[in-house]
Amino acid sequence: MKINKALCGLCFGCASVCPIDALVADDKEIIVTAICNNCGVCAKICPIGAIKIDET
Ligand code: SF4
Ligand code: SF4
Repeated sequence: MKINKALCGLCFGCASVCPIDALVADDKEIIVTAICNNCGVCAKICPIGAIKIDET
């Protein structure tokens, strides 16, 4: 998955719903770690559609 950082409002909703805690947040951005399995859970809850799931 990819986060469009230009759109992201840093609500941290995605980090809180990820079932495997693949997202790490600091003050300025959300970082996707290597354990992300593209399950899509975070993309569904992003209020502004900043998360894209890619199949590759
Ligand atoms: S796609 Fe799934 S595993 Fe990856 S960050 Fe989002 S919720 Fe977590
Ligand atoms: S849920 Fe969307 S807006 Fe909120 S931190 Fe995640 S990517 Fe950014």
